[in-house]
Amino acid sequence: MSFKTLIAGAAVAATLAAATTADATEAASAANPLLAPWTGPYGGIPPFDKAKVELLKPALEAGMAQQLAEIDRIANDPAAPTFENTIAAMERTGRQLDRVATVYGIYSSTLNDEAVQAVEREMAPKLAAFSDQITQNAKLFERIAAVYETREKAGLTPEQQRLTWLYYTNFVRAGARLDADAKQRLSAINQSLAELFTRFGQNVLKDENEGVIFIEKDADLAGLPQAVRDGMAQVAEARGQKGKWAIANTRSSVEPFLTYADNRALREQAWRMFVNRGDNGGATDNNATITEILRLRAERAKLLGYPTHAHWRLENSMAKTPERAMELMEAVWKPAVARVHEEVADMQKIADAEKAGIRIEPWDYRYYAEKVRKAKYDLDETEITPYMQLENLREGMFYMANQLFGFSFKPVDTAKVPVYHPDVRVWEVNDPQGKLVGLWYFDPYARKGKRSGAWMNAYRNQERFDGDVRTIVSNNSNFVKGKPGEPVLISWTDATTLFHEFGHALHGLSSSVNYPSLSGTAVPRDYVEFPSQLLEHWLSTPEVLNKYALHYQTGKPIPPELVAKIEAAEKFNEGFKTVEYLSSALVDMKLHLAGSTPIDPDKFERETLTALAMPSEIVMRHRTPQFMHVFSGDGYSAGYYSYLWSDTITADAWEAFTGAGGPWDKDVGQRLKQLLSLGNTVDPADAYRNFRGRDPGIEALMRKRGFPVPAAAAPAAAKSQ
Ligand SMILES: [Zn+2]
Repeated sequence: MSFKTLIAGAAVAATLAAATTADATEAASAANPLLAPWTGPYGGIPPFDKAKVELLKPALEAGMAQQLAEIDRIANDPAAPTFENTIAAMERTGRQLDRVATVYGIYSSTLNDEAVQAVEREMAPKLAAFSDQITQNAKLFERIAAVYETREKAGLTPEQQRLTWLYYTNFVRAGARLDADAKQRLSAINQSLAELFTRFGQNVLKDENEGVIFIEKDADLAGLPQAVRDGMAQVAEARGQKGKWAIANTRSSVEPFLTYADNRALREQAWRMFVNRGDNGGATDNNATITEILRLRAERAKLLGYPTHAHWRLENSMAKTPERAMELMEAVWKPAVARVHEEVADMQKIADAEKAGIRIEPWDYRYYAEKVRKAKYDLDETEITPYMQLENLREGMFYMANQLFGFSFKPVDTAKVPVYHPDVRVWEVNDPQGKLVGLWYFDPYARKGKRSGAWMNAYRNQERFDGDVRTIVSNNSNFVKGKPGEPVLISWTDATTLFHEFGHALHGLSSSVNYPSLSGTAVPRDYVEFPSQLLEHWLSTPEVLNKYALHYQTGKPIPPELVAKIEAAEKFNEGFKTVEYLSSALVDMKLHLAGSTPIDPDKFERETLTALAMPSEIVMRHRTPQFMHVFSGDGYSAGYYSYLWSDTITADAWEAFTGAGGPWDKDVGQRLKQLLSLGNTVDPADAYRNFRGRDPGIEALMRKRGFPVPAAAAPAAAKSQ
């Protein structure tokens, strides 16, 4: 039984405590290929060639039944509880359902249509009830508790002790110690929440799929680079309007338009469409759903003995308490807002000089920021894009992984390894001795039915306790595909995201643990973003840029003058980026600290932002009605702060490289790989302290963002308690 979560850049955070038995009945497997053990090369691969939507529900149901039977056997074992017959036995359960859940998760996040949505609506509450049935099994919990009580005297390894601790605390936190009535209420709440999460996510997806702005006149494209126009033509054609251009209601479609389009009225229209996802008053409006989710979360927290949902969520995180997370956010908020005012003043100056006769509004920010960038740093984003070929940058990531971690990547013939969509490709990853590390699946392009944003997902965790199992990881993003046969050019920001998600993949690939529940990215939420954010840094190293940032027409590397300009402008617009993110993180935390007070999301968002003195020129990166991280599952709820928390560690770890031999320092690279290999076998605060020789403070973070470094008494952000 592994505790699996998708690592979201923006999307799904549905935690399926997925599990099953290894001895699935042969009859069931024959009838439903999703139930069968994975066969083929690489220790078995997902059977995407045999997967069909109609197989998902019966497979999930059979998998759950198998798991419950297996759990019962452990719970009713006449032998006295030991680590081996209880905890290790639990790790052996859930194999079948885990495989099914992998395929289900992929359909849900990347192939989502009406048929998949119907399965989601039906299965989400059933999966929640199933999960509760396990954590509420009193006999099972007694055995887990017995192993936990004696863990220090039973001759267990540190990893086994930590796994025992994880099972015990997960069960307690899920209500294992409650009385029968409370357990029943808890389970009812979890099932209602699962339904609401599904509804929330489907509403956002529906608004993203259906919202579109068609453009007919060439003149309305003024300011847009050719690559953006081509992408927009593709979007229009895909929607049956060949010859026109279209702005889809997704970040990857809207943001380039906001950045470059001269037509201010259209910018405003696109901006309004995007920021109002889930907030349009019709069938897809999420406000009532949010109120209900918050009410149920508050009730659940009380039932479990915590003051608020935020306190419950943060207990096992690095931050430990909402107060410590708030302390960090507040330390960064004011300097970030001050920087925004400076940025806006710079933009207003340009608008005034152009006699635009406007006051900077949120739909102007990206557009005028570009102009300031040009004026201040002589840097034009459109000058960079021709060098940002997706496939070359992917090779650049491979180079980084090779230099730092010794991994090499070899493409796999998808005739031998089936994929779920023709756009998906697969690579095998080997270590310097040529030993298989795992597989990497890459699904780069936007399409209808795929959630927006970018994310990493582990199809299979690395583990060793019952034989050497290699991991299978995937990276997913939403790049606009462009014309067939032509290179896909992406923005600098998109390239950064590419490296970010690859960082999560490398975290998974570096894993070297025994038990799957402790494997790879199965670490606290406010630690998991650290490896991904850290590896973003290598994009801007001269080694990567000179070799891989090649002009799509001339093949020439990006000129050093342009690289120098990129470096000089590195901290540019950091006020905007920080405030856009942090306002979302603060609203998330405050929503979940409000306890049982009934919440009107719209009013709460407005009042909270006013109290924070949110600059009027910026909107939250994720407004409440579309905040998928927080309301499409529990995963990132009261947890959006995690990116900032992780970034304090990131900034500090980057200085470990720059303070030694630089980004390619072999020794620091090796020690980083070792740190990532630990998964959750060691408390991350201890593991990091071991890597760095001390705890990270806030200073490196402030330097990274170009904000004033506070005096020595600053909060030591990621220090463990
Ligand atoms: Zn991430």
